[in-house]
Amino acid sequence: MNQPPFGFDRNYIHEAATLLAHDDPFPGGAVVPPIYQTSLFTFANYAEMADTFAGRRRQPIYSRGDNPTVMEFEARVAALEGAEAARGFSSGMAAISSTVLAFVGSGERVVAVRNCYGDAYRLFERLFPRLGIKVDYVDGSDPDAVAAALPGAKLLYLESPTSMMFELQDIGHLTRLAKEQGVITTLDNSWATPIFQKPILHGVDLVLHSASKYLGGHSDTVAGVVAGSAAHIRHINEQTYSSLGGKLSPFEAWLLLRGMRTLPLRLPHHMKSGLTIAERLKAHQQVERINHPAWSNHPGKATLGGYAGLFSFEVTEDVDIPAFVDALKYFRIGVSWGGHESLVVPAKASLEQTPGLNSMARFGVSPRTIRFNVGLENVEDLWADVEQAFEKAKR
Ligand SMILES: *Cc1c(COP(=O)(O)O)cnc(C)c1O
Repeated sequence: MNQPPFGFDRNYIHEAATLLAHDDPFPGGAVVPPIYQTSLFTFANYAEMADTFAGRRRQPIYSRGDNPTVMEFEARVAALEGAEAARGFSSGMAAISSTVLAFVGSGERVVAVRNCYGDAYRLFERLFPRLGIKVDYVDGSDPDAVAAALPGAKLLYLESPTSMMFELQDIGHLTRLAKEQGVITTLDNSWATPIFQKPILHGVDLVLHSASKYLGGHSDTVAGVVAGSAAHIRHINEQTYSSLGGKLSPFEAWLLLRGMRTLPLRLPHHMKSGLTIAERLKAHQQVERINHPAWSNHPGKATLGGYAGLFSFEVTEDVDIPAFVDALKYFRIGVSWGGHESLVVPAKASLEQTPGLNSMARFGVSPRTIRFNVGLENVEDLWADVEQAFEKAKR
């Protein structure tokens, strides 16, 4: 590495390690929370029910609202993000749609970063026009472009770094601009996780996650979560959470709690292996460009305490991309990321998804771009795999 990661003296990992390992004992002294696999919770008598319904006491009523295993997960994410509260969802997209729709309605406008997650883009382009919501896209790395788009907007939708292109945003600067205009800010923090970036410290109102990625970390569950102030989470609960019904199931919350225990161990490993592979790719003669925040000079880098193992690169004309992808043995071909296994996604194939509603096509992602998710395998095995694949794919 020619440039050490910024902010690496931060204590996020050390804080998180204890936070994720230590629990007050659960019922019976259990060290792992029970899975409350129940749809409803009964009341001892009329008064308990009436007091609960009237908000004078709190107990779970029905698992489309609160469930104790899910609440454990929510409390854990809130603590990690430095938020007052969090709400779990059945997927990252349920968290994104329920959050944005809780704050934006007909006649209102969202400003979103270009190259945001593909299904978020499709939500904005397919459903939002039918609801009378307009979305303008900006180059989030350019604060002047964001400042010009903000007046009159309701919500600023950030994702730093962005999907596929890994463009950074200066979070503190952009949230200040948004606050001046009374615009609420959300940020998709799935890539960095609260181990490497805490957006709330930099003024973001609501932090979104696809928990299917690093938080879960084992490619065995699809889930999402949003964290923020108690008032904002209450607003989401009232406006969309229980009525749209995208709740997280207790078993998946339990899997997430289990996966998150090793987040502070997994992330530094993904970072180290990811940087090793990226650095060697950068020096490889069949690679033209690398899209990895470690090699960016953008001020948005300052809020990162480390780097995830997901990045992309562009190969030269003499690489037969389908042959390269097929020649890889350890990098399996598939979407998603953040699990133990290494994965490859060629933009060439993604560009053919949902023609007309493809953000990568709209914002000019090169078909020579390839995304790697660097997993937990031995990094020398991974690099040997990449080298032999380049060899086989040479035209
Ligand atoms: C996967 C992903 C999502 C969507 O999450 P799901 O859990 O698949 O619904 C959102 N944002 C980013 C950055 C993602 O990679």
